[in-house]
Amino acid sequence: MSLHQDKHYHARLLDRRDISQDLCVLRVHPGGPYEYRAGQYATLGIERHGVRTERAYSIASSPYEDALEFFVELVPHGDLTPSLFKLKRGDTLLCRKLAKGRFTLDLYSGHTNHLLLSTVTGIAPFVSYVRTLYRDWKTGGSPMPGNHKLFCLQGASHSCEFGYRDELERYAGETPWFKYVATISRPWEDTKWNGETGRADDLLRKYTDAWGLRPETTTAYLCGHPKMIEHSQGILERAGWKKEAMLEEAYYHVAIKEAGGAA
Ligand SMILES: Cc1cc2nc3c(=O)[nH]c(=O)nc-3n(C[C@H](O)[C@H](O)[C@H](O)COP(=O)(O)OP(=O)(O)OC[C@H]3O[C@@H](n4cnc5c(N)ncnc54)[C@H](O)[C@@H]3O)c2cc1C
Repeated sequence: MSLHQDKHYHARLLDRRDISQDLCVLRVHPGGPYEYRAGQYATLGIERHGVRTERAYSIASSPYEDALEFFVELVPHGDLTPSLFKLKRGDTLLCRKLAKGRFTLDLYSGHTNHLLLSTVTGIAPFVSYVRTLYRDWKTGGSPMPGNHKLFCLQGASHSCEFGYRDELERYAGETPWFKYVATISRPWEDTKWNGETGRADDLLRKYTDAWGLRPETTTAYLCGHPKMIEHSQGILERAGWKKEAMLEEAYYHVAIKEAGGAA
């Protein structure tokens, strides 16, 4: 086995849930022992004609689960996602043996409030946080969540893009430590939607105020569309957040022609 091969497991697709034409949730058996912390990402890939193409994907599952779960958006002309979208149950893919990333819950600064802001698939690491804390809370086997509270705002263009809304609303209804608001930026194309409207970054001040979040006690986590992250950092900085209290996970770089911005 070459050194190159040695970095990967042959992972297997256990199940997929298609959320829309260009969004799906993949449940994957990693193909060997796999350790990670909530908020980290895995590197998935496909081999074609001896060439491996791989990309980073935030892990939506909790380390307590056996399978890895991913929320993936199709980039029609992308190198990898068109192949990922063709995978059927039982098909194999590559998974690097090591999880990576520092987008994990801040348990070091002393902040007990955690403001989670995402666009569409950027909810994945937050699902992992909440599933993990929920399990700890239910079993009582860990001091978490303790005094920690999570406040999550998720933006999308349309309501069909949320993927985890039912699950997150269930946690929010059941626990005293989690709040969740989903917002859509194109309500005129989604006339049955009666929830929050506007871009997540545009609603940031409204919700930091409504939830009583202060820079001295709150770490912000920004995940997904790079423009949403940039706007949100500016808004939070002007409201007093220091750079070290804002963690970010940008999923890609914006091409110059993409003028529009985040959902
Ligand atoms: C730490 C990390 C975690 C990530 N987690 C996720 C995740 O949970 N789910 C997920 O779907 N993606 C995630 N991504 C993005 C992912 O790694 C790939 O970049 C993405 O799936 C596109 O891969 P591709 O090979 O199909 O397209 P590429 O060939 O890599 O990209 C083609 C072009 O599309 C642009 N592009 C890439 N992604 C998007 C997008 N979503 N919307 C618009 N343009 C885009 C690229 O900048 C490039 O110009 C993550 C990225 C990072 C760095």
